[in-house]
Amino acid sequence: MTEPLFDEEGRTRFGTSGAVRVRVPAKINLHLGVGPLRPDGYHELTTVYHAISLYDEVTARRGDRLTLTMEGEGTGELPVDESNLVLRAARVLAAATGAPAHARLHLRKQIPVAGGLAGGSADAAAALVACDALWGTSLSRDQLAGIAAEVGSDVPFLVLGGTSLGTGRGEVLSPVLVRPIMWHWVVAVADGGLSTPEVYAHLDELRAAGKAPAPLTAPDDLLAALRQRNPELLAGCLGNDMQAAAVALRPALAETLAAGADAGALGGIVSGSGPTVVFLARDGAHAQLLADDLADSGTCRTALVATGPVAGARPV
Ligand code: ATP
Repeated sequence: MTEPLFDEEGRTRFGTSGAVRVRVPAKINLHLGVGPLRPDGYHELTTVYHAISLYDEVTARRGDRLTLTMEGEGTGELPVDESNLVLRAARVLAAATGAPAHARLHLRKQIPVAGGLAGGSADAAAALVACDALWGTSLSRDQLAGIAAEVGSDVPFLVLGGTSLGTGRGEVLSPVLVRPIMWHWVVAVADGGLSTPEVYAHLDELRAAGKAPAPLTAPDDLLAALRQRNPELLAGCLGNDMQAAAVALRPALAETLAAGADAGALGGIVSGSGPTVVFLARDGAHAQLLADDLADSGTCRTALVATGPVAGARPV
């Protein structure tokens, strides 16, 4: 009998000479409460992360140095040099484990760049899981999540996936444990991205001028709605402190939000720092109808259906 290549967490003990292909989801924030700016330049966050079935893929193969190629969203715009989060993550893993940073990495990208879906962080999480398997460093998922926090605030969540409460700058995670349920989403992808630091800066300006809506309070009602598995309740609890700033910087987002509401979405919200907008549907059929209406509305580049929660970065 042959030994399984991966254990139940997707780890391999001895490294592998073949290719390791890792799939990683995008994240949305069901709740994104932005607190004050900290002395270290980060905002204090209270967020509920949710991983959805829109995926990037990182494939790792043996090589005699560290290289990256890519295809799909962002090809030609995104650098494939050391500033790419895939290579940054691989370097951080090599430094933490002592493994030589040798791999040929390939990124297949579907998650829109600078979309508020944490695609770059997702790619970093996938690179960590792929290189851990290729190099046989065999870290636990919690160890990988610890290393992930060095790469970026959203990266630990994308290693774990599911639905999680995030605090600190988003990297301190407590999984939201609920009976299994599948939520149905429509993801309205915008033309072009928004810079996360610019959206934070604009929120700070709006707040200083007294022009921002009152900050969100703790997501207790949202967590209760998740536990009750009630989509209408959940829709009423979605909240994002960054939405006002994202809409101010990209006024067309108000039209996308209105188009989703007119099409009968249970609720809609700007995802993270935008400009992607996500809508909650009653079920899969409702999500498909909504996506068709949104695509016809001309208020987004494309509208995709997705479900959540899904697992974090995993070998496939
Ligand atoms: P955030 O996680 O800040 O909310 P986002 O979802 O809005 O980000 P990302 O797609 O994660 O946006 O990318 C933000 C920036 O990160 C990009 O504009 C790019 O400069 C840089 N970046 C580096 N590596 C990657 C990568 N592999 N994929 C996407 N962006 C990357």
